[in-house]
This record gives sequence, C-alpha cells and structure tokens, in this order.
Amino acid sequence: MGKNLTKRSEDYSKWYNELVVKADLAENSAVRGCMVIKPYGFAIWEKMQAELDKKFKETGHENAYFPLFVPKSLFEAEEKNAEGFAKECAVVTHYRLKTDPDNEGKLIVDPEAKLQEELVVRPTSEAIIWNTYKGWIQSYRDLPLLINQWANVVRWEMRTRLFLRTAEFLWQEGHTAHATKEEAIAEADLINNLYATFVENFLAVPVIKGLKTESERFAGADETFCIEALMQDGKALQAGTSHFLGQNFAKAFDVKFATKEGKQEYVWATSWGVSTRLMGALIMTHSDDQGLVLPPNLAPYQVVIVPIYRNQEQLDAISQVANEIVNDLRLHNVSVKFDNRDTHKPGWKFNEYELKGVPLRIGIGPKDLEKRTVELARRDTLTKEFVPKEDVVKTVVQLLKEIQDNLYNKAKDYRDSHITAVQNFDEFKEVLETKGGFISAHWDGTNETENKIKELTKATIRCIPLDNPKEDGICVYSGAQSTQRVLFAKAY
Ligand code: AMP
Repeated sequence: MGKNLTKRSEDYSKWYNELVVKADLAENSAVRGCMVIKPYGFAIWEKMQAELDKKFKETGHENAYFPLFVPKSLFEAEEKNAEGFAKECAVVTHYRLKTDPDNEGKLIVDPEAKLQEELVVRPTSEAIIWNTYKGWIQSYRDLPLLINQWANVVRWEMRTRLFLRTAEFLWQEGHTAHATKEEAIAEADLINNLYATFVENFLAVPVIKGLKTESERFAGADETFCIEALMQDGKALQAGTSHFLGQNFAKAFDVKFATKEGKQEYVWATSWGVSTRLMGALIMTHSDDQGLVLPPNLAPYQVVIVPIYRNQEQLDAISQVANEIVNDLRLHNVSVKFDNRDTHKPGWKFNEYELKGVPLRIGIGPKDLEKRTVELARRDTLTKEFVPKEDVVKTVVQLLKEIQDNLYNKAKDYRDSHITAVQNFDEFKEVLETKGGFISAHWDGTNETENKIKELTKATIRCIPLDNPKEDGICVYSGAQSTQRVLFAKAY
C-alpha cells in the first residue's frame, strides 16, 4: 500500500503530474498536448459546468453552438486577434486520405483533396460568431445579444501540462453584443464578478479581480478583466478572463444596428471564458502529500461509507446501518457512496478515497454496531471522531459546510500572507526568489519596463487590482513616477 506520491516540498511539479494521474482525474493521450479526462475528473468538471451554466442563465444568457472550424478569411478579419493567435493555430488543408499504392497501402493525404480555403481550428470563436451576428443584429431591438457556448478549442501550445495548459481544452465562451460602450463594459465586469464568486464559493479558491496590462491583454480586446489566484508553490494562475472588445469585431465584420433615432452604429462587444484550467487551480490550492483534497461543493461524492467486516453476516448487519445512513444523507442532499465491494480491503479503500480527496469518510465495523456509533474522518484535516449513529446526518451536514469554509480560509490566509509590498528592485528580486507569491510594486505604466522586468526575473504583471487605492510612488525598475501599485508574480 502507500500512495508513493512525490512530496510537494521535493518537486512540486512532479507531485502535480503524479497526483492528476493517480487520483484518476486525467492522463496524457496519444496526441501530444491533448489529455484524456477520466470519469472522476470529468465529474468535477461537470459540477463546475452545472453551477456556471445556472449562473449564466440567471443573468440572462442563452447557450448556442458554432462550428469548430473558421475559414481563414474570416479568421484574419480582425487583425489583432488573428495576429495574436496565428502562432498557435492548427489548420485544416485537406479533406481526404487515400491509400498509397507505393507503400503497402498506407494512408496518405490525397493531394487532389486540397481545400479551396484553409480552415482554422478555432483557438477562440469571435470570428465565426461575429460573422454570424451580422445576420442576427439589425436594430436596437436585437440588443443586447447574450450568448454562451460550451466547447473545445485548440491552441498549439508548446509546453503543455495536464489541465493547466493543453493544446485542446474545454471551456465556455460567452459572446455578447450591446448598443452602448457602457453596457458592454458593465457586462464584462458583471461576468468577472460572477467568475470570482463562483471560484471562491465552489472551488474555495480566493481570487484577486483586476485588469490586464496592454501586453497581457486578449488579442483584439480594449480591456481584459481577470481573476488571479495563487497556488501553493507561490506561482500565480490566471483563473478566468472577461474582455471588453470595444467595436473591434463589429467593425471587422460590419455589424451595425439602427438606433432608436434611426442612425446606423457599430455594436459593442464582450467575450469571456473559463476553462478546464480551473481543475488545475483546484488541485494546486488545496491538495497535499496524501493526494487530492476536494471542497464539498465540487466533490463527485461528498461522503463515502466503507464497511469493515470479516464475514457475510457482519457485512449484512453493517449494510443495513449503512443503507439507512445513505438514505438519510440523500434526503439532506448529501451525495454519498457506499463502497461495499468485496474485491478490495478496507485499508485499500481508505487509501483510495484519501487520494481522491473525498471530503468525509465513514467507517463502520462490528464494534461500531455494538456501540451504535460510526467513525467519521475528515480529508482536509485528516482527523477522526466517533459519532453516535443518530447524529450522523446532522454532523455530516455541519462538517461539509465547515470543510468548505476551512479550505477557503486556509487558502486565503496563505494568499494574503504571500502578497508582499516592495519599494525597490533589489527587494523585488529577493522576495521573488525567497518567498514567491504576489509582489505589490509601483510600475511606470510602460511596456518597456514590464518587458524588462519579465526578461530579468520571469515575473509578469498579473493584474492591476480593481480595488487598488491610488498611491503616489516611483516605479520599482525605472524610478519614474507612478500612481498605483500593480501585482507581479511568476505564473503558470
Ligand atoms: P483567453 O481566451 O486567452 O482569455 O482564455 C480564456 C480562459 O482559458 C482563461 O481562463 C485562460 O486562463 C484559459 N486558457 C488559456 N489557454 C489555455 C490552455 N492552453 N489550456 C487551458 N486553459 C487555457
């Protein structure tokens, strides 16, 4: 037995890779950079999807679906967007294979089946969607248009990591159209807040809401709102983005509407997305050397019951009690699994559920039957207690809430204690190397300084926090005047 996970303190990234595979979340596939998401991992993603989908609909959005392929001519219509994504595009050039008579009937691309126009596999869908919106939007009565799609996209990333950065990833992308600039900005901000609330309440991951600098902005956006999280190893992770696209796509695709006064005006746009990267944020915020730690709000099952027995008679007696508990818990909306498989020993099961991060484990053995108790074990604190059978439901409901809160508070304490304000570049480098985390520093607002700092330290500006107080100071690198601090960090 034993999980043989590399310790986080030894090699954090090795620990991460092993954990993702051993906890049955995902694995590498035959396609470079593309992962197989396994049922246990997919169940967590589905819970994220369900909650987000509900929130999108509550705020007036509808789901639709657009094609995987974007004709190259459409893709290049919005120049900045095209240029930003060009380097990572997979492109379809042919539509048929044929057997090669000269090479034992192996398949080759049929040179006669060349597409007239190449198709880009969507790295993001603004182009195909705005080309469609042209036909949907004529007047102010057609606005706002609030659409979301759940989809896969492809960005040919060179350095990939399971969930964090894959070549193909799953996400949702919202694409909205508005009559005014103010409305579009309000939408981008609304969604960024929706993301922040979701990530904090469900993933139990605290985030900082902010704006990206020009060089970190989405290609084709006028402004990018984001939520930034801090992982256990002191590196930051962009957990979600929401873009104010101005009229850039409306102009590129000639999408105009008639105002109430009968004037023709270009439409204002937003787009926003979170991806399977959120799985990485979840793992790297809470998990430990024993394995995954899941917040109850996203656990595929919140409670697992493991019977401890020597013979069928004992199992029957335990099963009766276990089934009563299962029914009671379900009545209280607690998801529970009774693992009565006789193919695995209790010790193996304990190990397995610890590795998979199930928030609560209930053990029931013959002694417990005599005493009318069960053993309740918490995954987050690894503590155990005996609870009278009649108190199980009450205790479980209370503990699930407590675990959810505890995980958030622990992560927030860590994050808050890893935001360090520095006054000069020596301090900046010292904190970055010894402590990591977010560094709050004055910046002169130029691309040059940002790039230079990145070149020298690998730290980037994660965001300009939205709740930043104005504060006069001098740039940590150039010494030029600055009016506010921004957050730097090394990032995933
Ligand atoms: P973007 O369209 O670049 O603003 O990204 C939308 C969301 O997808 C953000 O939350 C990104 O952090 C996330 N994301 C971007 N690239 C990848 C990738 N290669 N794998 C997983 N998630 C990604």
